[in-house]
Amino acid sequence: MTIRIDGGVVVGWSGTQHELIPDGSLVIDGDCITYVGTDRTKPADRVIDATGKLVCPGFINLHVHSQLNIGDYLLTDASKRDYWTANYFVFGAPAKDKPPSFTPEGVAIGRKYALFSALKNGATTILDPGSGPGNLDDYVEIVGAVGGRVFFGPAFRSHDVVTDGKGRHHYEPRADGGRPGLQAAADFIRKYHGAHNGRLMGILNPSQAETSDPALLRETVAAAAELGVGLSIHAGGNLREIVQILYSYRKTVLEYLADNGILRPGTVLGHSVLVADHSRLERPFADELKALAESGASVGHCPYKYAKMALALESFDRFVDAGVNVGLGTDTYPLDIVSELRYASLVSRLVERKYYAGRPARVFNAATIGGARALGRDDLGRLAPGAKADIVILNQRTTRYGPVRDPITALVDYGSGADVETVLVNGEVVIDGGRSTRLDEDELYARADAAANRAWDNWPKRDWAGRTVEEILPPAFPTRKG
Ligand SMILES: [Zn+2]
Repeated sequence: MTIRIDGGVVVGWSGTQHELIPDGSLVIDGDCITYVGTDRTKPADRVIDATGKLVCPGFINLHVHSQLNIGDYLLTDASKRDYWTANYFVFGAPAKDKPPSFTPEGVAIGRKYALFSALKNGATTILDPGSGPGNLDDYVEIVGAVGGRVFFGPAFRSHDVVTDGKGRHHYEPRADGGRPGLQAAADFIRKYHGAHNGRLMGILNPSQAETSDPALLRETVAAAAELGVGLSIHAGGNLREIVQILYSYRKTVLEYLADNGILRPGTVLGHSVLVADHSRLERPFADELKALAESGASVGHCPYKYAKMALALESFDRFVDAGVNVGLGTDTYPLDIVSELRYASLVSRLVERKYYAGRPARVFNAATIGGARALGRDDLGRLAPGAKADIVILNQRTTRYGPVRDPITALVDYGSGADVETVLVNGEVVIDGGRSTRLDEDELYARADAAANRAWDNWPKRDWAGRTVEEILPPAFPTRKG
């Protein structure tokens, strides 16, 4: 099937950078783009009229945990002052003597909802750095049903993080060293890498730097090379992790990863906020950004999630200037990669104390070609002949925007995922007029809502102190009684 999209402004590709093509036209044949220019006479089976719209490369979201936003509500847990901004611990470090937190059905609906939400907000490609337990065949089926492009492998680690009866967190070595987890991930990749016409790609996910011991890291690097896939790891994301690695190995996180072969092309570091000279660490023993840039590893930067935890990358601009390949991710809800452009820009300006930092081109590049480079894919993140037909059409003719002069600057300044009207992945229209062409959205939302509320209602059963969600994170206002 051939499709022609008549813009609007098409964000084309010059060969070296994005360029704007007013009144542009783009032709798709099968799953690839065959033409980008201004000729609107090329024959096609279907013509999409994008007059007045912005036709963008599909965005790449480098950090989507496919789960419901149960944890997101607890991320700003007011009671975790002793945990040193240990972000996920409050919901991701299970109490040892409590029942498992999620049902398989809850996990499945969480996965489906998250993958769909990220797609509908404009991310045609996501990296899922591992999600809860659950059936892996189901995961493959869900990717097939939702319609987006996903890089995933089941997460594994050598150490678990647990909470004891007094609310203290502990790293506990697993008796199996994480080997069966790595094996299961390799088996998953052998079986499913390239499934759904290449929409599901394998990636190895050793969970976190401090929960992966040196032996497991080295074996993961060897497995990634053997399987021909990349790897993703949470690193430099919270202070508890920094202390754990510093006191276990006398190294910074990046030194630890470098010494175990992880820093290399094909590796995506989730966050990498707390590098040696970050103002919260001030450990000025090395130029870590230079080493990171030279290693060829990439950073999946999630500015909103970190702003929420009162932490910032120092800074997006400094990383880019040092030559580090930076892509963008959401990590938490909303899974809105378009808004993330603005957060990346604004947080960089605040950190740099320069209003001219975080320029629109830089953050747009991060969410497109930066993400593509991180995943080793030069056929994603750009609209050019030969590239995959992963395309997002946004409406900027709304009262929210007002008159627009430069559509990319306007997108960064005012845009959100709600502006996304049409999404194509592999040449297929998967969101049309803001609605899924594949799923019953209302049913999906109702099921997700029910599953999330069940989990929240049952929170006291899994919490070390039996607290309700409202006790952990008091609501903004009290509820009127009676
Ligand atoms: Zn994460």
